[in-house]
Amino acid sequence: MQSLPTPAAAEALIRQRIAPLPVESRPLPALAGAVLAQSVRAERDQPPFDRVTMDGIAIASEAWRAGQRRFRIAGTQAAGARPQPLPAGACLEVMTGAVLPPGSDCVIPVERLAVADGWAEIETDYAVEPFGNVHTRGLDCREGDLLLARGTRLGPPELAVLASAGLPRADVCAEPRIMVVATGDELVEPGEPIESWQVRRSNSYALRGALTLRGCRQVAEDHLPDDPAVLRERLAVHLATHDVVVLSGGVSMGRFDHVPHTLRELGVTEVLHRVAQRPGKPLWFGVGPAGQAVFGLPGNPVSSLVCLVRYVVPGLQALAGLAPRPPEVIALGAPFRVKPALWYFLPVQLDSSPVLGTVALPRATQGSGDIVSLLGSDGFIELPPGPAEFAAGHVAPLYRW
Ligand code: AMP
Ligand code: MG
Repeated sequence: MQSLPTPAAAEALIRQRIAPLPVESRPLPALAGAVLAQSVRAERDQPPFDRVTMDGIAIASEAWRAGQRRFRIAGTQAAGARPQPLPAGACLEVMTGAVLPPGSDCVIPVERLAVADGWAEIETDYAVEPFGNVHTRGLDCREGDLLLARGTRLGPPELAVLASAGLPRADVCAEPRIMVVATGDELVEPGEPIESWQVRRSNSYALRGALTLRGCRQVAEDHLPDDPAVLRERLAVHLATHDVVVLSGGVSMGRFDHVPHTLRELGVTEVLHRVAQRPGKPLWFGVGPAGQAVFGLPGNPVSSLVCLVRYVVPGLQALAGLAPRPPEVIALGAPFRVKPALWYFLPVQLDSSPVLGTVALPRATQGSGDIVSLLGSDGFIELPPGPAEFAAGHVAPLYRW
């Protein structure tokens, strides 16, 4: 038997064969989670002016150093108002966010003042410093500085920086249109009557959930029978209208496992079939005629979810033009023996240990059909092929659900 790729090799093959989606322009409110396809530079110095950071009065610190403690309040400088100069010997009332009045160089907070009859008196124990309570112009960044590079995923801080750079919209990688397809004559929709020999159709809900939690918004689904003619007809439609097709079931060696040859007939080039792993060994991946990424996940519920997290998620990153990042790693919290001569995906529950910090506790499962055993687990770790005994403290990559 020809040797099967390792999970890392399979992931690399998938990433290599996926080209980033085209670029689209989207308005600010629709950018959360998107990946930038342009760079963003600072529109202005940040802050753009010497910015008052406390409500209080602005004075010339020189006057305080010369012994002056009482100042006539000559006016008010509010946030957003055109700057007014400080009259000699006086002070201006200032608000947080206002421009520091020209001629002044510091702010004394209102909490440290006695104010009466249009005069402000500074508390005797308050030490005035030049630029005290002032966020000086250009301290955070300079006009033209590179703030966001191409390939950055836009989270909350990035969105605020985009807006502060004055951009009403940005070029980002298009969102993938994803189709999740369950295959199997035995599958019955939740809510419908079921016979004792039938099975609830559950995989798609876990797969969609994992995709939704990762910010995928365009996820549709279908359920197809183990009938080559129907599969061919419906998959042709799905391929024509989606960037990613994620199938579950029908990729093993059974007589009704029609997915691989049907996809080949539809012009999907097989890149990968079977990986040296358990669960999920039958994994299939191919690329459609228009560059569609097509994943055939094994139907067993644990296998399909593990394969989605381990392979479809990196595929989506490649589609968004994101470079691979090293996986999170974690130490085993208890020894574990791997029997098969295959890479092993072990479901784990995260726990905190006084010695090792956060650790991964192995979860017992009855195999790849046992979705109930995943309840309370946080994800899985990837262990090298057995037979081998991994001691507590062994560090492994962690993939969260
Ligand atoms: P298959 O990969 O099609 O041979 O399916 C392997 C096992 O997973 C069988 O026991 C199927 O009944 C089960 N299975 C396949 N698809 C689903 C699904 N969408 N939901 C729940 N179980 C499934
Ligand atoms: Mg099946």
